[in-house]
Amino acid sequence: MRYDLVVIGAGIHGAAVAQAAAAAGYRTLVLEQFDQAASATSSKSSKLVHGGLRYLESGQISLVRECLLERRRLLKNAPHLVHLTPFNIPIYKDTQRRPWKIRLGLGLYTLLGGKAFKQLTKSEWCELDGLRTDSLNSVMRYYDGQTDDVRLTRAVLSSAQSLGAEVQFECTFERAACNHQQCSIFYREQGSGKEIRSRALVNASGPWVNSVLNRVEPAPDTLAIELVQGTHLVVPGNLQQGIYYLEAPQDQRAVFAMPWQGNILLGTTESLYSGDPSAVQPREEEIRYLLAVYNHYFENTLDRSQVMAAFAGLRVLPNSEDTAFNRSRDTLLHIDEVNCPRVLSIYGGKLTSHRATAEQVIRRLKPLLPKRKKQADTRTLSLPSVS
Ligand SMILES: Cc1cc2nc3c(=O)[nH]c(=O)nc-3n(C[C@H](O)[C@H](O)[C@H](O)COP(=O)(O)OP(=O)(O)OC[C@H]3O[C@@H](n4cnc5c(N)ncnc54)[C@H](O)[C@@H]3O)c2cc1C
Repeated sequence: MRYDLVVIGAGIHGAAVAQAAAAAGYRTLVLEQFDQAASATSSKSSKLVHGGLRYLESGQISLVRECLLERRRLLKNAPHLVHLTPFNIPIYKDTQRRPWKIRLGLGLYTLLGGKAFKQLTKSEWCELDGLRTDSLNSVMRYYDGQTDDVRLTRAVLSSAQSLGAEVQFECTFERAACNHQQCSIFYREQGSGKEIRSRALVNASGPWVNSVLNRVEPAPDTLAIELVQGTHLVVPGNLQQGIYYLEAPQDQRAVFAMPWQGNILLGTTESLYSGDPSAVQPREEEIRYLLAVYNHYFENTLDRSQVMAAFAGLRVLPNSEDTAFNRSRDTLLHIDEVNCPRVLSIYGGKLTSHRATAEQVIRRLKPLLPKRKKQADTRTLSLPSVS
């Protein structure tokens, strides 16, 4: 069987590329090493569908605009999976980002496609879930999206399947040999080796991106990246007033406290990681860091024994002298046009902009693929309900 497109990975990007490819009429197969979708980064995110207010600080305006547009589409196409939630930004006397700066950022965010923001009155502060009010200067409230990343990924994959894409779990990509017409793809399924052919190969393997690319012949060049670990904690509590956008007193990074399945999700951290991506684990210092942020801002303090769960995921970020917090979050689509024009790799990216990324992937590969009849437009396609 020859496919038009084989996709490695059933995270949000692999699912979205399969959906976009199947919608464009291409014969598509997804290979995933684990037994279900969203087994890696796409189940370890902060679960936000957002433009990313803080990316304005580092001038990533086009990223914010694209994400806000995709947020709007998801609210329309998947209202059962994505909903708007209030985000509260408390500003204290010693908060580094001053009120004028936050107002300016929120104003720009609104202009780029966000919903209007407001300043809470002092009489509303007592409703803020036990937030400390000593030396509190003001609280700004705006709105952004929240989702369940696992269900979102499964819904996108299910949409791809209903458009005709095939998905095979517990199939590990081993290597590919490509020429100017096609790629032969070798993978392992339950101990036995298999070979298939495809016009093009999409490497949507998240933190494994370079280890997959290193097994392609002729050897394509790879981008220099770092893996940055981000940890979240689930702690007891009930945040009635939405999400709290907190400035970590230790290093002024943004940390979120979010209502999550009847408890609180706290995250995230950023620390360099090297080693096997499947072995990533929350570190004790990250857990202490997140608890300290929470305890700095809320009256009802938590201790280590109250942590109900902790999980860590890996961001793929381009190598840079900058801190991980300030580095570009743009998605990079990489093809080595000279050595291996039929292999496209996705580096980094956002859960929020998965559809737009997939659309760009298909646009880049279209000249290499046969003509097919378009079946659907992912900009307006409703996502199914999944359990
Ligand atoms: C801590 C953290 C918080 C984040 N929060 C947000 C957020 O709130 N909002 C947002 O928009 N974005 C967020 N992001 C970004 C977003 O989560 C990621 O960009 C996205 O999930 C990456 O998806 P992916 O499909 O590229 O990778 P993954 O989800 O990692 O999927 C890659 C898949 O490839 C498979 N694979 C790898 N190698 C092979 C092989 N050899 N054979 C077969 N299969 C293979 C893996 O098993 C895996 O399932 C966050 C990221 C992190 C790390």
